[in-house]
Amino acid sequence: MITTGNPCPICRDEYLVLHYTNIDLLKQFIHPETGEIFDTRIIHVCQKKLIELEVAIEKAKFYGLLKYQVPFRKYDYSEYYPDLKEM
Ligand SMILES: [Zn+2]
Repeated sequence: MITTGNPCPICRDEYLVLHYTNIDLLKQFIHPETGEIFDTRIIHVCQKKLIELEVAIEKAKFYGLLKYQVPFRKYDYSEYYPDLKEM
């Protein structure tokens, strides 16, 4: 293992497996409600591992292992149903 001055939390532990089924690890880097990855200034993950982390998180969401909320979107139904405007 190569030690650097500012090792990122994932590189620091060589037994840490960054995998989409390792939900407990992925959860530490994402917001519990939005599912967004925290800023790298907060999580201190290096660029190389950040890409792997993003892939693992997206994959976990795809397989339904990570829960996340879809941003609420308000629809203006009058755009789709012009008749509603007259009602
Ligand atoms: Zn790293």
